[in-house]
Amino acid sequence: MDMCYRHPDRPGTYFCQKDGNRMCEECACCHSPRIYCQHRGACVINMLTKQGELTPCEQKSDESQENSEIKMSAQG
Ligand SMILES: [Zn+2]
Repeated sequence: MDMCYRHPDRPGTYFCQKDGNRMCEECACCHSPRIYCQHRGACVINMLTKQGELTPCEQKSDESQENSEIKMSAQG
């Protein structure tokens, strides 16, 4: 199965034909909505974003700073 390009553990439900990326529901958004895309007319991601089902990338950028601290458990 093709997985999300950012989350290898999640299924890539949405596919961007322009970028060639598979994305999970969380990641799915048009990465360059201002740039012409020949696939946009039939793009599910674009359609769902307009309908409010998906969050536009521009709004997601606020969350780009991820603080995922991995605490190593050093034994010995
Ligand atoms: Zn993802």
